[in-house]
Amino acid sequence: MTGISLYGIVTEIKTSKDMFSLRIEDKTGAVWAKLHFDKSWSLGRLGMGHTVYISGLSSSLSPQKCLELSWLENDTGASFFNISCLPAFLNTSCLHKLLCLSDLSAHTSGAQVCRVWLDQIDHCHVDTRFMHTLCGNLVDESHTGDLECKFCHSICNSEVERTFHLKITLADDTKRLFAWCIGQTAAELLQISPDEFYELPEEEQIMYPSSLEHEKFIVTILNSRRQDCGRIAEQNDNMVDWEVTRAMKCQ
Ligand SMILES: [Zn+2]
Repeated sequence: MTGISLYGIVTEIKTSKDMFSLRIEDKTGAVWAKLHFDKSWSLGRLGMGHTVYISGLSSSLSPQKCLELSWLENDTGASFFNISCLPAFLNTSCLHKLLCLSDLSAHTSGAQVCRVWLDQIDHCHVDTRFMHTLCGNLVDESHTGDLECKFCHSICNSEVERTFHLKITLADDTKRLFAWCIGQTAAELLQISPDEFYELPEEEQIMYPSSLEHEKFIVTILNSRRQDCGRIAEQNDNMVDWEVTRAMKCQ
């Protein structure tokens, strides 16, 4: 069968050089989809717990008689949207229900939208790192000194950009929540670009976040650590369960 569309939550990711397997879950169950790329991953940031819409999948039966879904990057009708990172999801009230932080639990599934302020700013962790521009994942330096993306399984020395790895407390009238984010979302919350921040003298870097206490945002937030699934290596050192995937400043 061809032309299948899927809407669900990514609960497991297995990656190799040009093939990525995603376990997609909804209320009715879970299925694995194999995504094939001409050269390398080209869909921007994707992480555990993200909500995605994929069209143009085709199905077949594996030799073990299991249903397999596959997707080719350049197939007619093939599209992929990471709903969790779409500005439209945040902007458009008919696409989401505004929740309080106390409505979120480890069992809340998929991306949710909340109106929050930044709280306990003294305890935030602002780290500047490099990320792989293609996939938005943090890179590591290998023993040979090359920059390596574990998500794409590639050496990406010339395809990196500076980014924030931010851990910060969000609050509303109902609850406080410690969350993490990277990339454009972290820059939006901090109201400064990673390069500008990096150029600041060390003393100003330390002082900078204090100006942001109680700044208000609408955020897309999701649980990036589900109890029932594994996690990709990049997130293993991250003990914070909630990821902010999109943020918009409120006036
Ligand atoms: Zn990558």
